Amino acid sequence: MSKVRVRFAPSPTGPLHLGGVRTALYDYLFAKHNGGDFVLRIEDTDSQRFVPGAEEYIMEALEWCGLIPDESPVHGGKYGPYRQSDRRDIYDRYTAEILKTDYAYIAFDTPEELDTVRHEFEARGEVFSYNYQTRSRLRNSKALPEEEVKKLLAEKVPYVVRFKMPFDRTLVLQDIIRGTFSVNTNTLDDKVLVKNDGMPTYHFANIVDDHLMEITHVIRGEEWLPSMGLHILLYEAMGWDAPEFAHLSLILKPEGKGKLSKRDGDKFGFPVFPLDFKDPSTGIISKGYREEGYFPEAFINFLALLGWSPSDDKEILSLDEMVKEFELSKVHKAGARFSKEKAEWFNHQYLQMKSDEELLTLLKDIPEVKNSSFTDAQLIHIISLMKERATFVKDLYNNGKFFFHRPESYDEKAKKKAWGEQTSEILSSLIKLLSGEDFSAGNLKDKLHHFAEENSLGMGKVMMPLRLSLVGELKGPDVPEIMQLIGKEETVTRINLAIEKLS
Ligand code: GLU
Repeated sequence: MSKVRVRFAPSPTGPLHLGGVRTALYDYLFAKHNGGDFVLRIEDTDSQRFVPGAEEYIMEALEWCGLIPDESPVHGGKYGPYRQSDRRDIYDRYTAEILKTDYAYIAFDTPEELDTVRHEFEARGEVFSYNYQTRSRLRNSKALPEEEVKKLLAEKVPYVVRFKMPFDRTLVLQDIIRGTFSVNTNTLDDKVLVKNDGMPTYHFANIVDDHLMEITHVIRGEEWLPSMGLHILLYEAMGWDAPEFAHLSLILKPEGKGKLSKRDGDKFGFPVFPLDFKDPSTGIISKGYREEGYFPEAFINFLALLGWSPSDDKEILSLDEMVKEFELSKVHKAGARFSKEKAEWFNHQYLQMKSDEELLTLLKDIPEVKNSSFTDAQLIHIISLMKERATFVKDLYNNGKFFFHRPESYDEKAKKKAWGEQTSEILSSLIKLLSGEDFSAGNLKDKLHHFAEENSLGMGKVMMPLRLSLVGELKGPDVPEIMQLIGKEETVTRINLAIEKLS
């Protein structure tokens, strides 16, 4: 068997959507599982939809995910060029080839002429299609006399090349994920293969490149399923073997129906792109998973399981483990419902697996942390206290701001619950007790217990107002731990401040 070669073939028309990243991931997993090559090809024949920066974005996103192509416009390779706009002369050669067969013809109809015909059809309540029924009445080399065609060509009248869809053939198509299905060619139209500027359309460039790049498996989104019949016939027309096909189902909205869109992301507050993307024409920034604080390992793990189940239903898998396990037969036929909670769950899991030292490096990217007076050992102590409840690195800081800043206000509800008539008095006498040397959490814990006992106070009467003074609300890790970390002086200052403001 020939070496497995799979390509990811995005068009640089904007940022990669989550679904596109998942296609790239499955392309990669399948290729690597089978000891094959993962190829990145940029499909940019549609210059009108080209968005500056999109190609760079695609490469950066793949790199962030750890999906490094074996061949690409930047990595090179022996099947290049890997950008379709650089392959024009290759397409010209194959356009000439297909025109020699009975599978293609040239058509001179202008867009305006086609619009007129379309309107005539609409007026009769019919839908126009350029196909076996209409082609003989239109301005093309299958309908016009040969002399006329020659004349038009000599006059350099612009033309397109169309596929001549065979009449009434039932195609039996095989998809690795969906199984066998059939299509009658009379339901398909004569697609344009080459536009009047000489550039091939997606369909033609795609099959020429897949053939020349020796692609063995085409794994792509289900939006391309309706094109599969045409693609199979194009291979037939060229006399080439077709690759195998696998069409992936959609990633669905959180509520389960319909394709996940950017609007869902805006509505429910999650990104649908891997990285932030600034639209060059509007300047609007769409959010990305990277900037939101997701770890790339968590992101691809989450994405891989949106539509694929490993054999033992294991959930946490590294990229290498996914490569080992991945099989197209385990990819779901039905769409996969997106869940923000699940995405966050994965990041939470990955955060728990990181060492405190690793988290320290990441946490120090936050200026308030970097510029604080805490030593690395103290910051690691804070991390160990805050880690369990954190989903993102930023949570370590956001949920533990009180370590870095004095409370500026006190939660009203907490105040009602924690602050009584005697509280000021209790805390004042507590301060006296804190003057000792040892300010470690262990010692403080003992001291606080004794204090409550000696004064016949319930622990809550001491701990709750103390916590409120230090944190500003009734949240956070053990109070003695907080006291140790912020130190004696700061602890006393905060207690005095609370007495002043709350009594
Ligand atoms: N350029 C197409 C896209 O962006 C590729 C489809 C395919 O993989 O054949 O979706």
